[in-house]
Amino acid sequence: MSVITRFAPSPTWFVHIWSLRTVLYNYLFAKKMWWKFMLRIEDTDQTRYVEWSIENLLRVLHAFWLDPDEWPNNPWKVWPYYQSERLDIYKKYVDELIKNDKAYYCFCSSERLDELRKEQQELWLPTKYDWHCKWLSTEEIQEKLNSWTPYTIRLKVPKWKKIFFDDIIKGRVEVDSKDVDDQVLLKSDWFPTYHLANVVDDHLMWVTHVIRWDEWTPSTPKHILMYEAFWWTPPTFAHIPLLLWMDKKKLSKRTWDVSCESYLEKWYIIEAIINYIALLGWNPKSTEEFFTMDELIEKFDLEAVHKAWAVFDIEKLEWFSAKYLTKLNIETLYNLLKKYLEKYDSEYAYTLSKFDDNYNKKIIKELQTRLKRLGEYRELTKFFYNDVWHISQDLLVNEKMKIENIDIAKKWLYLALEILSANNDFQSVDEVKNVFVEWIQKAEMKNWQVLWPVRIALSWEKESPWALELIFILWNKKSSERINNLLKNLN
Ligand code: GLU
Repeated sequence: MSVITRFAPSPTWFVHIWSLRTVLYNYLFAKKMWWKFMLRIEDTDQTRYVEWSIENLLRVLHAFWLDPDEWPNNPWKVWPYYQSERLDIYKKYVDELIKNDKAYYCFCSSERLDELRKEQQELWLPTKYDWHCKWLSTEEIQEKLNSWTPYTIRLKVPKWKKIFFDDIIKGRVEVDSKDVDDQVLLKSDWFPTYHLANVVDDHLMWVTHVIRWDEWTPSTPKHILMYEAFWWTPPTFAHIPLLLWMDKKKLSKRTWDVSCESYLEKWYIIEAIINYIALLGWNPKSTEEFFTMDELIEKFDLEAVHKAWAVFDIEKLEWFSAKYLTKLNIETLYNLLKKYLEKYDSEYAYTLSKFDDNYNKKIIKELQTRLKRLGEYRELTKFFYNDVWHISQDLLVNEKMKIENIDIAKKWLYLALEILSANNDFQSVDEVKNVFVEWIQKAEMKNWQVLWPVRIALSWEKESPWALELIFILWNKKSSERINNLLKNLN
C-alpha cells in the first residue's frame, strides 16, 4: 500500500515539542511503509505569518533526523508547498462547490456576525452561523455581486445527517450535522480558510493518512462533508491525544521550554529525545524502552497509540538522555562535546582547546555517568580549566564535617600534601581512594573530615566531584599546587 503522510504547520513560532511528536509519528508511519512524508506550509493566515519560522523548522527537523521527502523549495518541486502560492487552486474548487450547491455566498458583515455571536453567548447557545444567507435567490446573489458587496463562501452543511469517520486511534467518531457550523471556506480577501485549503491540498497531494493532533478532531466532520461534496475519497485519519505538561496542564503555547529549539540548545542527546518523544503516547506493547530510529520505524504502529493524554516529563527525558550518554564511547562523546561547544559556547570550546585531549577525555570519562545533557559540561567542569580562584574561609570551616576552625582545615591539607608527595600519579580513582584511606586511617581520622578541605582546595566549591576524583584528574602536581596556594593564602 502506498502511504503518504504530511506535516502541515502554520508558520507562526518555534517548533513545539508536541509538533515534534506529530512529525515523528508521521515520519515513522510513512517510513515503515517505505513511502513518503512531506511538509506543506499552511500560511493562509497572513496576519500570523512569521518569516523565519520555516527555515527554522527545516533546521530543527534536520537536527532530529526527520527530514521530509518533499518540502518547500525542494529541487524537484512537484508543486507549490506554500498554500499562499496556491490561491487559484482553492478558488477553482470553491467555485465548484458553489456550482454543485454544496456551498453558498454569505454577505453578512462582520458587525452582524459579531452581534450574532454575542447574542448566542448571552443565551449560552453554541455560537454558529444562523443561515441568514443560505437561502438567497440567484437574483439576490447576483445583485449583491454586481454591487461589489464583500462576501465569504460557506459550506452548506446538510440539516439532518450523521457524519462519521473511523479514526485509527479514536475509533469511530460520529456527529450530528445539526451540531456542525456552516464553516467559512473562502474569506472575503479570497484567501481560503484552513478547512478548504487543507482538504483540497490533502487530496491533490495524494495524502493517504492524516496524522494530526486531537485538537483538530472537531474539524474533521466538516472535512468529511467536503470530501463527500467533491466526490473524493477521504484519507484515513489518526488524531493523536493531547500532550500535557508535567503539572498536568495543557502545554502553554509560547514558553521557551515547550520549544524543540530549547532542547537542542541544552544539548540533550538527539536519540534520547526521539526515543522519549516516541514513547509519549505509544509503546510497542512490551517493557522495552530503548529504540534506535530504525527500530522505531520497524515497530511503530498507529493502532497502538494510546487514546489517553500523555504527560511530558523533563525528568524522564533527562533519564533517557543520561542513559544514552553513558552508552557512548569516550571518543564519540568527546567529539560530540566539541561540536556542541563550538556551536553554543565557543568561549569554552577555546578553553578546552588549550588543554591536552587526554586531559579533557579523562574529565569526560569521570563525568560520563553524571551528565544528563552536554549543556551541563561547563558548570560541572569549570574548576578543571581554571586556576584562578577565590575561596571564602567560610567554605572551609564546616561544623558538620567537624572542621571547626581554619587550623583544623590546614592540618588536613598538610596531610594531603604529604600523601601526594609520597606517591606517583594515580592510575585510577580507586587507587587514590585506597592510598588516602590507608593514610587517613593511620591518622585515626574519618575520610570525609580530611577530604572536605581537599575538595575545597581543588575545586573551590562545595558542589563538585569527589575530592578523590579531583586528585585523579588533576594529577598530583596540580593538586599539590592548588593545596599549596590555598595554604599560602591562609597563612
Ligand atoms: N495548519 C494546521 C496546524 O497548524 C494543520 C492541521 C492538520 O494537520 O490538518 O496545525
